Amino acid sequence: MPTDCNTSLLILQDRDMNVQRIERELAELPVERAATEKKIADMKAAIEAGRQSVKELEVKGKSIETEMGEVENQALKYKNQQLLVKKNEEYQALTHEIELTQQKVSDLEEAEIELLYELDEARKSQAADEAQWNEKIEVETRFLSRLDEKEANLKGEIDAAKEALAQVESEISKPELSTYKRVSRGLKIPIIVGLKDAKCQGCHMRVSASVEVEVRKGNEITTCDNCGRILYWDA
Ligand SMILES: [Zn+2]
Repeated sequence: MPTDCNTSLLILQDRDMNVQRIERELAELPVERAATEKKIADMKAAIEAGRQSVKELEVKGKSIETEMGEVENQALKYKNQQLLVKKNEEYQALTHEIELTQQKVSDLEEAEIELLYELDEARKSQAADEAQWNEKIEVETRFLSRLDEKEANLKGEIDAAKEALAQVESEISKPELSTYKRVSRGLKIPIIVGLKDAKCQGCHMRVSASVEVEVRKGNEITTCDNCGRILYWDA
């Protein structure tokens, strides 16, 4: 069992850890939030890009229709002209022009059918993609509101945690507190560890015999001669 002085140091460490955890989690929140918002923005951009390529196909379809109308008008003009010409070679030339426009119309029709098929496929896959993206966006949006909740909770906790830390600090003697602070500066928690079978439970190295004796006595704060952690007797 830890001695009394080490018990309050352990409470100090515990509360210190708690404050550090809350502060760390609060500091991580904006990073997590930004990463989540970026994910959502990327997915929305993917949806928009998909819609854009469907739109492009629609525009292409309209321009085929426009062109077809123009070519059909041209054919009509040739046919009307044909009614007016007298010379046979002029008539033949217009027949040739009409045939060319007919060929053009049939090419355009073919292109239109291909395009309509492509458009149909694009719309279908866009709808499927959007459904998937929207589902994922919803998941990320829910995560965002969980982050908001977490932030509210942590902000609610931090004051009480700091107060609890200050309270235990006020109960510990100044030299002990300053030893704790000095030791904790260079090390990762746990700062206070047990000494078991002459081994420091922080760095797992064997301590010197004199350190072991001091720890066993438990009269004053003794630190590991390898890693510097505060040791308590853990028989
Ligand atoms: Zn150690």
